[in-house]
Amino acid sequence: MLQKILIRLGVYKLIALILKKTTQFPIWENLEIDIQSSCNRDCEFCPRFLDRSGVRKDKRGNQIVTRIPTEKVYKLIDQASKLGFKGKIKLHRLSESLLDKRYIEFAQYIKSKELRLLENTNGDVLKKNEALCAQLDGLIEHLTIGLYDYKNEAEKQTEIAYWRSKFKKTELVFSLPPENCTIRQGAKVYFEVEKEPNALELPCTQPTRMMLIRYDGNVSLCCEDDGCHFDLGNAFEQSLSEIWWSYKHIKIARTLEKAGGRHQFKRCNQCYNAQKKINRLKQN
Ligand code: SF4
Repeated sequence: MLQKILIRLGVYKLIALILKKTTQFPIWENLEIDIQSSCNRDCEFCPRFLDRSGVRKDKRGNQIVTRIPTEKVYKLIDQASKLGFKGKIKLHRLSESLLDKRYIEFAQYIKSKELRLLENTNGDVLKKNEALCAQLDGLIEHLTIGLYDYKNEAEKQTEIAYWRSKFKKTELVFSLPPENCTIRQGAKVYFEVEKEPNALELPCTQPTRMMLIRYDGNVSLCCEDDGCHFDLGNAFEQSLSEIWWSYKHIKIARTLEKAGGRHQFKRCNQCYNAQKKINRLKQN
């Protein structure tokens, strides 16, 4: 209640203006807008897998399926553009953005604002839709395609060749969780692998680089914070500036930039995403 009054009075706006000028805390490098909540896959290495909080899945494990109202997506893009942001935008968080039929219209709008559209996909929608591949080729500057099903090198190379034949202008990169699996909270894999305690001593710069907006407007601190546990704010209720240049966000980000900073926060103190990746093909 008090927070809502302070927002209405413009207190956070004023704080953001002051902190932006006095702290030299830079604008984010990556903006992610989670245009819709769902994914057509259910991968063991993904933080969605064990979620029963109602963010990605309900108590019974059924998917939450919802999306950001269209006008809110445009407003967020406009705000970023007005702030002079020229970096990377993605239209997903822990979701498959190409399931959203509005993707092309948002992509074209981002391009019209001279922003850089990057994307990650599991590729399933594209495999069924050659016309969409053609439309997106060049519209997306950089596309990371997850190769999740291959069992050996030959199968992997066949998949890579397939995708290279579909995209000629977009830069392609392949994410390979069978061989290079990041340990992420919420994933089944998190509980199955050996953790390296030293990983908890490493600095983390994600909060300094990433502005991540979940489908309901809540802002995550980092890729590992889909639950928005740090309570940074809601981008439908506050401006991006107010949230990014808030005292709370800057303080957390600066703490985590230092070695050992992870120990200051419960979520970070169990975060092993910086340790060496797991080769699950060799384990099987
Ligand atoms: S250390 Fe904290 S801020 Fe960094 S990725 Fe892990 S949970 Fe996020």
